[in-house]
Amino acid sequence: MDHSGRLNKVRSALERVDVDAALITNLTNVRYLTGFSGTNGQVLVKSDRSVFFTDPRYEARASDLVQGADIVIYSNKLTDVLPEHLNGTSHLGVEASTLTLAEHAELDEALQGVKLASTKGVVEDIRRIKEPAEIELMRRAIEIGDAAFDWVLDRLTPGATEREIALDLEIHMRREGADEIGFDPIVGSGPLSAHIHHTPSDRAFEKGDLVLLDFGAAVGGYRSDLTRTVVLGPATDEQRSIFDIVLEAQARGIAAIRGGAAGRDVDAAARDYITEAGHGDDFGHGLGHGVGLDIHEAPRLSRISEHVLAGGEVVTVEPGVYVRGSGGVRIEDCVLVTEDGAEVLGRAPKERLIEL
Ligand code: ZN
Ligand code: ZN
Repeated sequence: MDHSGRLNKVRSALERVDVDAALITNLTNVRYLTGFSGTNGQVLVKSDRSVFFTDPRYEARASDLVQGADIVIYSNKLTDVLPEHLNGTSHLGVEASTLTLAEHAELDEALQGVKLASTKGVVEDIRRIKEPAEIELMRRAIEIGDAAFDWVLDRLTPGATEREIALDLEIHMRREGADEIGFDPIVGSGPLSAHIHHTPSDRAFEKGDLVLLDFGAAVGGYRSDLTRTVVLGPATDEQRSIFDIVLEAQARGIAAIRGGAAGRDVDAAARDYITEAGHGDDFGHGLGHGVGLDIHEAPRLSRISEHVLAGGEVVTVEPGVYVRGSGGVRIEDCVLVTEDGAEVLGRAPKERLIEL
């Protein structure tokens, strides 16, 4: 991982946002810039150097992991040591989406003579474009998710509960090499498959249920995100019809992806098809999101997305149709944006509705 290169990209961005230095407090951004993962770490990025701050619990870990920055350990609070590293700084950028009002007030009081400027999305914008090493980790996380889907199919039987299957997925992914799960799995069955962000319950599967599985692994911090929907037993015409609509919408969304395409046009390519098929009101979320160190990160593919896609981004494409009271279908894959198209990174089957 090119941590020094990433810190340099932040330096180049400082001028654009009109600050002399930036204090990075979002832990995912800290991890991205230095390699440090833990619950307490901050990075000060100045034009001539970078400084990583943490407390004594992480001293050994920081010296193992942190690259591209000097390490400063503070035993009480950041503001005890920060001022001495800010000489020459008159405008300090702080991450407005992360810093709390209380932390802002504390910094403001401790840093006399330094003006705090709220910045948003500076590091997140750099994180959008994945380096080859990041894509390799994501491919591994995606493989683990695909294998878990293959494996779990045998366990999807009437009587099994959503909660059991969610746990099965977690255990399997960790056994197969995931450092952690990418996010809490969604397992929705029967009418609950129509709940977009369902929390797995004790509901036992019944014959004829649609079962929606949305889950992923994390490797080296990088996440995968996969959704498949299957039916327990022979599908009804309605279930098959909804599945086919979602599958075609996903294909159209993927076909619209390339460097230079507008996020909202990619969303529209899938959404318009679903609307023409009479289910526009049953697709109540955006088409996709960036994925990487965070499960949801920049860019977004949605009706209001102002983003123009660029080669090297990894986004999900996940249209869904959710019919209240009966069930929902979502199909989701991670897709690498290339200059002239898209590469679907997973191989989990989706060609037709799987009837178990
Ligand atoms: Zn998902
Ligand atoms: Zn997703």
